[in-house]
Amino acid sequence: MIILKDITKKFRNTTAVKGLSVEIREGELVCLLGPSGCGKSTTLSMIAGLEPPTKGDIFFDGKRVNQVEAEDRDIGMVFQNYALYPHMTVYENMAFGLRAHKTPKAEIDRRVREAASTLEISHLLDRKPSALSGGQKQRVAIGSVIVRKPRAYLMDEPLSNLDAKLRSQMRVEIAKLHKQLGATMIYVTHDQVEAMTLGTRIVVMKEGAIQQVAPPAELYQNPVNRFVAGFIGSPAMNFLEGKVVLSNQGPCLKGNGWQLPLTLAQGKKLMDKGYMDKMVTLGIRAEDFHEQQWGEAWLEVLADVREMLGAEVLLHGRVCGYGGAARHGTAQGEPVRDSLNWENSPHICAKLPPSCCVKAGGRVRLYVDMGRIKLFDTITEENILYV
Ligand code: ATP
Repeated sequence: MIILKDITKKFRNTTAVKGLSVEIREGELVCLLGPSGCGKSTTLSMIAGLEPPTKGDIFFDGKRVNQVEAEDRDIGMVFQNYALYPHMTVYENMAFGLRAHKTPKAEIDRRVREAASTLEISHLLDRKPSALSGGQKQRVAIGSVIVRKPRAYLMDEPLSNLDAKLRSQMRVEIAKLHKQLGATMIYVTHDQVEAMTLGTRIVVMKEGAIQQVAPPAELYQNPVNRFVAGFIGSPAMNFLEGKVVLSNQGPCLKGNGWQLPLTLAQGKKLMDKGYMDKMVTLGIRAEDFHEQQWGEAWLEVLADVREMLGAEVLLHGRVCGYGGAARHGTAQGEPVRDSLNWENSPHICAKLPPSCCVKAGGRVRLYVDMGRIKLFDTITEENILYV
């Protein structure tokens, strides 16, 4: 179990990590996720003992380790660059750390062969790194850490040198390895797909500070703020600025060239929190647009790009009309008005089934699943509907 308590790291003028606190339970695979420069690697270096925190404490299994040297922390690190010795074979590379610790020869042999078998690289033990593919090199790098049986594994973007296909294969391998070893792992990445598929929990970071710590599904469904909502999910969530108004159809959101009816619960929450007549940011995930009738509210969209991805179509376009809300009395909605300044109206991206035949330049009515929308305070960016 690793506990970080109010950790801060300053480098001269930069505060790389700001008051970060998190508890990593034994056997968890926790991903540190965030854009470049948000302090992920610095956090990992402090856990490994390569950098001392400026402030705060680090505990391993309840024991404060701030003063414990890196080599005495019993941690295995895997980096983006494989750090293999080019003149040694795979076997020798994997055995190197154990030899340095004067482990008996027979024990070294047993551990190397066991790790090689786990990683399916037994047939490569006699090769030099130059005769290995990127994925195989990374397996060897992981192997040379596994043989030491450390208490915890720290991985810093270990797959970022691999091509997309190999990356997704290795992602699955790492998930399997985690299950097999049952060890605590901390995995740094800026790739949200990697974090979502690997992490039992994800720590989302921005500018050195934690935004949210939660399991993947929770982050996706209940992001604490606009940053998390926009960072998690692909394509990124659509954001539209609108005003909360009470029309004769009930509580609505009104933006530039569009209007959508809120559910009664959403309207009540906004009213209770004092958002009536105020601007808020509406968040709609690409998959929450539907071509077939879905609820009552729709946006008319003028498509400008259609991306066919095989299993789905990503339709990009501009909102140029709206309607629906039969329940509130305007079944026919608002007609598309060419005179309206909808050139300034929001861009959206919808994820639709491949059967969608709208082409660039075409217009389509997209129903919005209003039960799944998110609403953010335009200034603080907090999720107003967060529960
Ligand atoms: P990336 O994904 O690009 O690796 P990161 O989230 O891992 O980014 P860090 O490498 O932890 O980010 O860096 C956080 C901030 O601290 C950055 O602004 C970086 O420039 C700064 N920083 C990191 N190490 C040092 C250092 N040794 N001296 C000065 N500034 C540093």
